Amino acid sequence: MTLRAVPANFGPLRGPHGHARITGPCGDTMEFWILADAARLVRVAFTTDGCAHSMAAGSACARLAEGRAFDEVARIEADDVSAAAGGLPETSRHCALLAVNTLREALAALPHREATADSPRDAKPASPAPGENPVLKDRLAHIRHKVLVLSGKGGVGKSTVAVGLAMSLARSGKRVGLLDVDLHGPSVPKLLGVEGTPVEGRGDALLPVTTAGVKVMSIGLLLSNPEGPVIWRGPMKMHVIEQLLRDVEWGDLDVLVIDLPPGTGDEPLSICQLIPGADGAIVVTTPQDVATANVRRSVRFCRELKLPVLGVIENMSGFVCPSCGTTTFVFGSGGGERMAVEMGVRFLGRVPLDAQLAQAGDRGLASERCPQSAAAGREALERAFAAVLASLDGETHTEEERRTR
Ligand code: ADP
Repeated sequence: MTLRAVPANFGPLRGPHGHARITGPCGDTMEFWILADAARLVRVAFTTDGCAHSMAAGSACARLAEGRAFDEVARIEADDVSAAAGGLPETSRHCALLAVNTLREALAALPHREATADSPRDAKPASPAPGENPVLKDRLAHIRHKVLVLSGKGGVGKSTVAVGLAMSLARSGKRVGLLDVDLHGPSVPKLLGVEGTPVEGRGDALLPVTTAGVKVMSIGLLLSNPEGPVIWRGPMKMHVIEQLLRDVEWGDLDVLVIDLPPGTGDEPLSICQLIPGADGAIVVTTPQDVATANVRRSVRFCRELKLPVLGVIENMSGFVCPSCGTTTFVFGSGGGERMAVEMGVRFLGRVPLDAQLAQAGDRGLASERCPQSAAAGREALERAFAAVLASLDGETHTEEERRTR
């Protein structure tokens, strides 16, 4: 029999003042229990059913938090945990983040904590952890498929793909929701021409705005000045996202498309941890990106989280001449496909840089002023989406995806 060494702070605490449990998309469940006096955490304990790195991260995070004031605990970051655990490899960063997020949820669940400048309490009253929140569980239970759209960096057309996919799925008769959680550049309202539309509420719930058959919710719809820079404090960000997931009354949906913030950093990672059971992600890239490590990083990001890659779309690939319609591949062609084959993920296609698509984006893709002609960009997007639709309707993922799932 093999015995596994467990740290001294492993295991539940009796009568905790705060408790949280989160299951990350990687499948690991982390749990934290905390005992507090008026101003600080007196004891912190955790459990995890994950690997040795998950164990090291949970233990280090609990050690870092014990004896500290609430606002100090709220400022503990994944990097601190990783360092305290002896330097976790980059591929296990999600373990450190899962520990930090679970600790913050346990902190938010403290009943009598004084609010502090950086505390999660600023964002919302104490609530159960995401994995346990019955309202969130119920909302997610009504959504059959959840598809994430991500990109290695901003400005590559991630939101254009998310909006186009949602509209395409709606046209095929699906009940579709589109959630824009790109905290720093929520462009979905603009792309759909619904900027400034007031969001209505029913009881505690927010009602999504419906356009072109798609139910839409975006951080941009909730900001009084969507043009202004958005500065969120770390813990507050996650609570806003969690609130959006929990409080939007989507009703029954076939598919919820989620537009993530760009990059592969802590922000998209934390959001993925709040959305258990996602079907997979579409990675959006540009030909220039293919030459860099961005796409590979995005695919690796999904793998680490055991999030299947539904496919890669190479956007802004070649330029379509507005007068003669011919396509010129300014940055070469075929790189995205080669990269997808190399990484064992499905290549969904190339979408050219198309002036009509750009204009449509400016006018609102769903608005009546948007040109409905069969532009090259639009056609290419539709072809890419047909493959996604097929995989959601039950077709299989690639061999590699099945193996790594
Ligand atoms: P991201 O979400 O990655 O930041 P967006 O989807 O907001 O990027 O796109 C950035 C800008 O590029 C928008 O103005 C959009 O209309 C435009 N755009 C996206 N894809 C194309 C394309 N294939 N051809 C022309 N313009 C595009």
